[in-house]
Amino acid sequence: MAKVLAVTNQKGGVGKTTTAVNLSASLAALGQRVLMIDLDPQGNATTGCGIMKREALPTVYQILIGRSTLEESRIRTDFDFDVLPANRELAGAEVELIELANREFRLRDALAAAGAEYDFVLMDCPPALNMLTVNGLVAAEAVMIPMQCEYYALEGLTDLVTTLRKVRANLNPALHIEGLLRTMYDPRSTLTQQVSGELESHFGDKVYKSIIPRNVRLAEAPSYGKPVIAFDRQSRGAQAYLQLAQEMLDRRDGRVETSQQGALA
Ligand code: ATP
Ligand code: MG
Repeated sequence: MAKVLAVTNQKGGVGKTTTAVNLSASLAALGQRVLMIDLDPQGNATTGCGIMKREALPTVYQILIGRSTLEESRIRTDFDFDVLPANRELAGAEVELIELANREFRLRDALAAAGAEYDFVLMDCPPALNMLTVNGLVAAEAVMIPMQCEYYALEGLTDLVTTLRKVRANLNPALHIEGLLRTMYDPRSTLTQQVSGELESHFGDKVYKSIIPRNVRLAEAPSYGKPVIAFDRQSRGAQAYLQLAQEMLDRRDGRVETSQQGALA
């Protein structure tokens, strides 16, 4: 069965899209069958793997409103993984979904068949707790939370954990935190080290050992429509996402002991 993860954090610009694209490409490079779903009307994850937004039709929008299926909408990238693309049109889904029955469950239902076809499904959520994100959280078995180790990060995390609890209570009882990922990490900053330490003491081994450094190649790659491993495989950013992908496989296959410490209780 596919591991279905929502890459989420309501805070903007923390590295959600960068993580969704580069982790998808890294898992694919390690031989995994991956589907990435772009749930953000900005469509950055879509263009970041070389798909033109205007050409990308049908998108995840048509899936949510029941006008298309996974089979009809997914696109194979040049990087050995599939994408359900998004574009501006997806912003309208928010309003249209209100009218529809089972509005929180539409993505989950559409993905029912994907479980057997993929090893990983990664969803890039928008920086908001809207109906698109809720659809992602309902379809997911767990969330991956990218975060920058800065002063307000922990505060934002408290809000996110509260939301996850609500979704768990009302819509998706099995939802849990898969892992917290430190992104844009600058080891020279004392504050970064402090926040990073606090994160580890609060969330234990829910915090991935792999850390994504601040690396300019990660920021440059999207303008070439490529994940960083296809752009500069030797860069520190590429190596960090490959390491994260390997860590996830090790966890999944039980090569790493994970306790329940820090679980979403
Ligand atoms: P949004 O909330 O708007 O969806 P996001 O959480 O998806 O944002 P990204 O778009 O992935 O965040 O990253 C924000 C910006 O930071 C982008 O310009 C991206 O290229 C850059 N960036 C992300 N991760 C890194 C990194 N590790 N090193 C350097 N730049 C990075
Ligand atoms: Mg994004």
